[in-house]
Amino acid sequence: MSEKRIIFGAPSIGDEEIAEVVDSLRSGWIGTGPKVARFEQQFAAYKRAPHAIAVNSCTAALHLSLIAAGVGEGDEVITTPLTFCATVNAIIHAGARPVLADVDPRTMNIDPAQIVSKISPRTKAVLPVHFGGLPCDMDAIGEIAAKHDLKIIEDCAHAIESEHRGVPTGCIGDFGCFSFYPNKNITTGEGGIILARNPEDADRVRRLALHGMSKDAWKRFRDPKFRHYSVAEVGYKYNMTDLDAAIGLHQLPRIDGFWRRREEIWNAYNRAFADLPLVLPTREPQHVKHARHLYTVLVNSKRARIEREAFIEALDAKSIGTGIHYLCLAEQPAYQELFGWRPADYPHARRIGEQTVSLPASPALSDSDVSAVIAAVRETLAA
Ligand SMILES: *Cc1c(COP(=O)(O)O)cnc(C)c1O
Repeated sequence: MSEKRIIFGAPSIGDEEIAEVVDSLRSGWIGTGPKVARFEQQFAAYKRAPHAIAVNSCTAALHLSLIAAGVGEGDEVITTPLTFCATVNAIIHAGARPVLADVDPRTMNIDPAQIVSKISPRTKAVLPVHFGGLPCDMDAIGEIAAKHDLKIIEDCAHAIESEHRGVPTGCIGDFGCFSFYPNKNITTGEGGIILARNPEDADRVRRLALHGMSKDAWKRFRDPKFRHYSVAEVGYKYNMTDLDAAIGLHQLPRIDGFWRRREEIWNAYNRAFADLPLVLPTREPQHVKHARHLYTVLVNSKRARIEREAFIEALDAKSIGTGIHYLCLAEQPAYQELFGWRPADYPHARRIGEQTVSLPASPALSDSDVSAVIAAVRETLAA
């Protein structure tokens, strides 16, 4: 008996994406060109944002946003311990020190009261992550930022479709950073985008993304005429290419269909697991739209009578891939060495990190895949 493996976070790539990439290859425009410009316009329109700058990852988006926010040497940036390492790496690369504020155990998002307790004279910005696609408490975070004159950079890697009081995530703070990595809600292979509220910030980010060359340098990609460029500051090489944008141009129009499919899977899991000794995702409040990026359950070994690692291994043996989002960042040796972080200082993130399992919830799953996940989870807990 050979079962098909159910991959965690499988992308859904259609014929249009493939044809558009082939079109780019045949056209000779494989670097940054007209398709990147179109993708930026399309994404800005989808998010109702004034400015969008496409880059080659969300990590790059975070790095450039922090620099454009004025974050640098000697500054502190407050973020969550329950995130991907890229979030704090970007802060470190900007020259600043990441400061962790523990999460609300129910929402798994950064707790505003914890942010307040971590503010120092060096604090320059807060970097909330909309965990799993559930928007953070942006009312409270906005008030804190206004009171202490902090910039807000939203890590929207999980939150492309999310909204908070009708405002799209990424448009609430000063900057919004998105990821199009293969397992995110839409993909460009590798890619990211920055939404900036102010035109000056947008210009700065655009310049930094391409070696620090003046804005007109981007036009060189669309204009066959020779043009001089000037290097206005020392920048980075973070631009998106047309090959990536070609994929994104056909992923974005499919985003609502993907979302509805994940919503179906989400509801099917909620119904199927309601009687199990697992903690299921919290219900979102009325005033937000949830992007349904991650369906995470908590396996408390005493209640579930199975260790988290054994639960993952049992699903793996049934050909079901899972994810862990995330081990508390204070568990990671590099940061312990740099900053002396201790997991015990972030008890909620630590416990979630020990118990969490993300189940496959990609729109690429068939109904029989979803049934297979449900059966495997039920059998594992019954065993
Ligand atoms: C995926 C992810 C990132 C990094 O995205 P890349 O596009 O791979 O650089 C950053 N933050 C969070 C929360 C993520 O999930």
